[in-house]
Amino acid sequence: MNNLSSSCIDDPAAGGLLIVDTAAVVANWRLLRDKAPTAGACGAVMKADAYGLGAAELAPALAAAGCRDFFVAVPEEGIALRRALPDQTIYVLSGPLGSLEPFITHTLTPVLNAPEQVADWLAHSGGRDYVLQVDSGMNRLGLTAAELAPTLRPRLLMSHLCCADEPDHPMNQAQLAAFRVARDRLPGVPSSLAASSGIFLGADYHFDMIRPGIGLYGGNPVPGQANPVRAAATLRIRIVQVRRIDTPGAVGYGATHAVTPGMRLATVSAGYADGLLRSLGGRGTGMLGGITVPIVGRVSMDLISFDVSAVPEELARPGQWISVLGDGVDLDAQAGNAGTISYELLTGLSRRYARRYTGS
Ligand SMILES: *Cc1c(COP(=O)(O)O)cnc(C)c1O
Repeated sequence: MNNLSSSCIDDPAAGGLLIVDTAAVVANWRLLRDKAPTAGACGAVMKADAYGLGAAELAPALAAAGCRDFFVAVPEEGIALRRALPDQTIYVLSGPLGSLEPFITHTLTPVLNAPEQVADWLAHSGGRDYVLQVDSGMNRLGLTAAELAPTLRPRLLMSHLCCADEPDHPMNQAQLAAFRVARDRLPGVPSSLAASSGIFLGADYHFDMIRPGIGLYGGNPVPGQANPVRAAATLRIRIVQVRRIDTPGAVGYGATHAVTPGMRLATVSAGYADGLLRSLGGRGTGMLGGITVPIVGRVSMDLISFDVSAVPEELARPGQWISVLGDGVDLDAQAGNAGTISYELLTGLSRRYARRYTGS
């Protein structure tokens, strides 16, 4: 194992260690930017604390690499990100939630999604910049094309694709056509449609800015194909106890998983309270000493049991670490084991893990 794993072992307080590869996030941003050479700009979506990996730590590295446009979901996230990014543009996807004050005080740029937001901003922002979102078929946020009065002068017109991870889905073409109609109502205004998966739908979808999120953090933007981006998160959980089973029985709450004499079980110090979802029980995997080890029985709040019978005894000892992301455990595969997607697995990772940033 590498040097980092020995430094993990020296951390006496952490039950789990989340290692974020800042260099991988920056490399992924460059790769996605270069996929869309016709788009003038590549932003970075940093909502939900950069999908759980730490916006304050990652944003400055992306800014140093040349990223100028950062997206968060709600004003509170924008206020926090502004402390890390004094000079870049910070867009707030939900727009003002009742008050314009945080936008003016912290120089945040709202994405205006509804006629009421537009009217309020135009009346009270003192002519400050704004973005308009148009709904192109997702029916979630945005103005209708008919609501785009030709007098509006946003700095960006944007929309969002609902099926970009399914390239053959007819919604992609339908939304592209609807977005073009909307653009025609505001000639000369820069526009943006594609998030991570949309970048891979081709140049028609790139317009003037692309807005990747999950691809920066290692999630596969092209499901079913080889992942073009690098893993950014490694998560290792410390072994509390290893027990050799000597009488037939079962492990964990509900006694759902039978154990037999000769088996060795490792109990690790993280659980569903740390974002390792209960649905990983009996389905998730870990990696110990280069060997894949299955989760057995139910996931508890703070503990998970792995069957480590296949791992040499000297590698499966209390104080050592089982990797549940990275180190050969694929993010999308582990999310699939939990019955969810990489986005939910990453954004659910708890603050209880110790965190290390490497490669910056
Ligand atoms: C979350 C989000 C993105 C980024 O999406 P990914 O699939 O993570 O790349 C881009 N645009 C909008 C409007 C979003 O809400």
